[in-house]
Amino acid sequence: MEFSKMNKSEQQAELKALQAAYNELCASGLSLDLSRGKPAKEQLDLLEGYLTCVATPEDCRAANGFDCRNYGVLDGLPEMKTMFAELLGLSEKEIFIGGNSSLNLMYDTVARAMLYGVVGSERPWCRDDVKFICPAPGYDRHFGICESLGIKMITVAMTPTGPDMDAVEALVANDPTVKGIWCNPKYSNPDGITYSDETVRRLASMKTAAKDFRIFWDNAYAVHHLYADRQDTLADIFALCSEYGNRNRVFYFASTSKISYPGAGVSILAASEENMAQIMPILASQTIGHDKLNQLRHIRYFGNAENMRAHMMKLAELIRPKFEIVLETLEEDLGGTGVATWTKPIGGYFVSLYVKKGCAKRTYQLCKEAGVTLTNVGATYPYRNDPDDSNIRISPTFPSKEDLKKAMSVLTLCARIAALEQMVAPCFN
Ligand code: PLP
Repeated sequence: MEFSKMNKSEQQAELKALQAAYNELCASGLSLDLSRGKPAKEQLDLLEGYLTCVATPEDCRAANGFDCRNYGVLDGLPEMKTMFAELLGLSEKEIFIGGNSSLNLMYDTVARAMLYGVVGSERPWCRDDVKFICPAPGYDRHFGICESLGIKMITVAMTPTGPDMDAVEALVANDPTVKGIWCNPKYSNPDGITYSDETVRRLASMKTAAKDFRIFWDNAYAVHHLYADRQDTLADIFALCSEYGNRNRVFYFASTSKISYPGAGVSILAASEENMAQIMPILASQTIGHDKLNQLRHIRYFGNAENMRAHMMKLAELIRPKFEIVLETLEEDLGGTGVATWTKPIGGYFVSLYVKKGCAKRTYQLCKEAGVTLTNVGATYPYRNDPDDSNIRISPTFPSKEDLKKAMSVLTLCARIAALEQMVAPCFN
């Protein structure tokens, strides 16, 4: 029954019953974690034979004979570029292969723009105020980069088709200090939203007051489907930008963190040839080349993009049941209460729960006291400020199914308690 349709004494009775269940849970000494968006051990163990596929000095040669144990090949092995180009629909000529973290490439790309500017800049970005549009809820570490480099964040709401494009277009049209936008365009963190074709087209074509405006296109979950027969597709940002004469507008990022290993994957930055020509000399002063043996392991083990896609489907077999546990528990415990909504993603790593407005912090606190750790409330918004105090990011992959079930039951119980507390005593929060 909808909580708002209960009268006060019914609400009080329901709250009392839930509190009794909660007290029992607290006494049972749980220690569970729903906060970590990382693969479980079984996912990592799926790469059987991977760690030994480059084992001898003879194994260390790339297709062109280059000895990958040595210095060199700053931009990455050609066959690694080919694999990424096929996997993500990119041009090999526009790919730079990095180390194990695309977040690192993102940080460096923003920092480089601050220090040197980008193609089309009159001077380094740091000489003026810099603002970034931050669709929210979003990935906390994008916001962390802005905070760390003194970039002002402007929050724009996420909608089921991507960022609120009316708001984005209005912001970029008149203010030349708005230099960038963070986009996690497919199976977004945390909502699992894929931008519609129209959203991508509008991003590619919009008129920006800043001549050197950039889209930071973090396609972290490009091939991270949960189902073989239900998959989102994302419009080609480079093709659309080219159509409007804006190919320099995109810095594109991805990695194999959640394909192979997050601690030892391979990352990429893709950008127009003109952008690449500007940044390569700067990159050359940073490193003589990233870990090519790791690139070789990816090349030898997967062979081609098709095999990588097949591996993603094997991973989906492990991950999907966990997402289903989350969605079933939400439906069973919160469906019909009218105090929560949630996303039903078909890919990516997260489910986004929206508890009753003003109740996320209280839900977090109740969970914590019962031994369940959630992602910090507010983390999914710039400056950790969720204006509705409502969003909670659920990461189903890491815990075992049994732990996940228990943790989800605690979470839904706490969400109901927090909502009823607010309704019974509106001054509580
Ligand atoms: N981008 C998004 C949207 C993420 O959710 C994550 C990790 O959770 C990353 C980037 C991190 O990527 P990487 O491991 O390549 O640094």
